[in-house]
Amino acid sequence: MAIFSQRLGGVLDQRKQQDLYRQRLTLESAQGPLIRLQGREYLNFCSNDYLGLAAHPRVVAAFVEAAATYGVGSGASHLVCGHSTPHRELEEALAEFTGRPRALLFSSGYAANIGVLTTLLQRGDQVFEDRLNHASLLDGGLYSGARFRRFAHNDVSALALQMDKADGPALVVVDGVFSMDGDTAPLAELATLCVGRDAWLMVDDAHGFGVMGPNGGGSTEAAGLGVEDVPVLMATLGKALGTAGAFVAGSELLIEGLIQQARNYIYTTALPPAVAAASLVSLTLLREEAWRREHLAGLINRFRDGAQQLALPLMPSRSAIQPLLVGDAARALALSARLREQGLLIGAIRPPTVPAGTSRLRITLSAAHTPQQVDRLLEQLAHNWGQP
Ligand SMILES: *Cc1c(COP(=O)(O)O)cnc(C)c1O
Repeated sequence: MAIFSQRLGGVLDQRKQQDLYRQRLTLESAQGPLIRLQGREYLNFCSNDYLGLAAHPRVVAAFVEAAATYGVGSGASHLVCGHSTPHRELEEALAEFTGRPRALLFSSGYAANIGVLTTLLQRGDQVFEDRLNHASLLDGGLYSGARFRRFAHNDVSALALQMDKADGPALVVVDGVFSMDGDTAPLAELATLCVGRDAWLMVDDAHGFGVMGPNGGGSTEAAGLGVEDVPVLMATLGKALGTAGAFVAGSELLIEGLIQQARNYIYTTALPPAVAAASLVSLTLLREEAWRREHLAGLINRFRDGAQQLALPLMPSRSAIQPLLVGDAARALALSARLREQGLLIGAIRPPTVPAGTSRLRITLSAAHTPQQVDRLLEQLAHNWGQP
């Protein structure tokens, strides 16, 4: 069928013309503040390894040790014979840490979100999503068959009006920290709204877990919200924890329901046990080494203060995600390319990931960065920003 080739080719040509074509980098080193690409070292400001744990020696050692015991592959899905001791221990530790009765591991955050939304929702229900929610949440809402409604970013009054006009069981879904903007959802207000209207609130805390909250418990901890306020909490292990996979935490009923019904849980091979074992050590480091969060908070302030003095277009973010708004996709790409020539790796985020006209440099900071590295970032940004 020539039509499929034609369609694929048409999209590729269009993306190239509009400066929206994506290309992958091939790393030759571990994740960290310094990474190697094509034999050259770069200062890395585009990873989500917020606490610097992805290549931590204790996390790596736990992985190696568990691989020696359990092998590399889990061999089967969780419901057949792929569920092992490291999975169980990690689930128990995550439930305890998040203050929820139970937690359930998924192979990825993308799968967890689709699994939860398609399990909870059915035709006749209402799902309300923030416009800037992560793609996996939007996709899950669309796949679920529920009436899908988006509300203006962080606009609780607009959401309340929409909820008043609709009837049927309602689920409100937000990111805790928005992945491309770095700002946070007004979780306390959203929780009050949902409790008052007998709706459930689901929070995807991929970028808040491990970073926000007095103990790194994430956006819900920062807002002081328990399982009665946020019945569905989801977070990923591939960001602050530096490993891979994701979990959903909530009531006994929610977790048993997901085990029995979530197709993304049932029909997929379990995460390698060694990843679970490594994640458990990451979680221990996250809890024991508060200095990581404190150091990161210091770097975020240092970057924002410096960028403000340089009049760079900061966005209202207090998180490790510090985008600089560029607008035009071609200019964002050119800035990213110029910084890369100078040894700095920063992603240019363009449509369709962000709305048209809001292309940006997405700078991410990590506890593994030094203040000097942040200063170098600011110098290079100042040097390049004014250039056409
Ligand atoms: C990264 C991310 C996901 C997907 O998680 P993976 O484990 O990478 O599949 C889901 N939601 C948000 C907000 C994310 O940033």
